Amino acid sequence: MPAAIPDLVTMLRELIASPSISCSSADWDQSNLGVITKLETWLSDLGFRTEVMPVPGHPGKSNLIATLGMGPGGLVLSGHTDTVPCNSELWKSDPFRLDERDNRFYGLGTCDMKGFFPIAIEAARRFVDQPLRQPLIILATADEESSMSGARALAEAGRPKARYAVIGEPTSIKPIYMHKGIMMDVVRVTGRSGHSSDPSLGASALEAMHGVMGELISFRRELQQQYRQSDFTVSVPTLNLGCIHGGDNPNRICGRCELEFDLRPLPGMSIDVLRESIHKRLAPLQQPYGVKIDVDELFPGIPPFQNSRTSELVRTAEQLTGHQAEAVAFGTEAPFLQGMGMDTIVMGPGSIAQAHQPDEYLSHDQINPMVGVLEQLIQKYCLHGTTDA
Ligand SMILES: [Zn+2]
Repeated sequence: MPAAIPDLVTMLRELIASPSISCSSADWDQSNLGVITKLETWLSDLGFRTEVMPVPGHPGKSNLIATLGMGPGGLVLSGHTDTVPCNSELWKSDPFRLDERDNRFYGLGTCDMKGFFPIAIEAARRFVDQPLRQPLIILATADEESSMSGARALAEAGRPKARYAVIGEPTSIKPIYMHKGIMMDVVRVTGRSGHSSDPSLGASALEAMHGVMGELISFRRELQQQYRQSDFTVSVPTLNLGCIHGGDNPNRICGRCELEFDLRPLPGMSIDVLRESIHKRLAPLQQPYGVKIDVDELFPGIPPFQNSRTSELVRTAEQLTGHQAEAVAFGTEAPFLQGMGMDTIVMGPGSIAQAHQPDEYLSHDQINPMVGVLEQLIQKYCLHGTTDA
């Protein structure tokens, strides 16, 4: 008989009370081991085989793979353990204390996405003493909100292996079969400063950056003519010139200028190929402007994701939820799980509109329906062991 574990709300309260912010800025970044340890304890008490996998090169960060049953197929229920940073002064209640009001649970990570774990565990509970024909795997990852180092390490290790995967990001329990990717890069232009009265005394990084911006904007125009996917609200790839810093004085030739931009590719576009094209377009500007131009990634990027609209899991999720599969604009770990051969969707409780906001919440009315959908998926893919292969 499996040991008793806390009820759903107690688990949610404990996870929210265990801070696990991940951030590219070291001032904010925290370990996720508090959350991993709690999940590992509950899942092993339920009879799962658990494995905590430290993320190489990222001290204090681990993934957790918890497995019930055995077999070549099975179902992964995946969530990330980290949250974004928060501005507690903008919250009505303490972001690290679960607060229940207006039929909602408030707290940092309630919808994005610590709340998914108690729901997945609640669904799994029913099956712990049943003979599963295929494994049920609960996967908890590190650093989704920053570098995706957790998902990258799993992809590198080729683990876990299963036939199907559901990533419980907040989609209001609608199946998502496609999302855009994202890359963020910085262009650094190095010229030579000098007295503005004689242009020959320097090489203006600002003027060269004007050329860079022109190139990036024409590149965007070409990409938008070439690629279109009408299932997205914004049907073309986007490129946003996000911030620029350069120069110090009107009477000085600008010696250095930096521009940061993001580019959101559609499925079918490769981040590596995009970076290569940007490099090829910007490099020829160096000689005429007399400057050096470097382009560096701010993070490695998230590839776009697309599953077949008619895959077994997409069709099943559509039937169970009564919602047609949709496309969303935010990036997830889906391309990494799909890359390991799993039929993957994104589908979870809560709304993305509440994520990354003060007073983030999970509505009570999202909980039981999500538990129900997961129970039916576990029944189909683990208990009955449908592989559809
Ligand atoms: Zn998330």
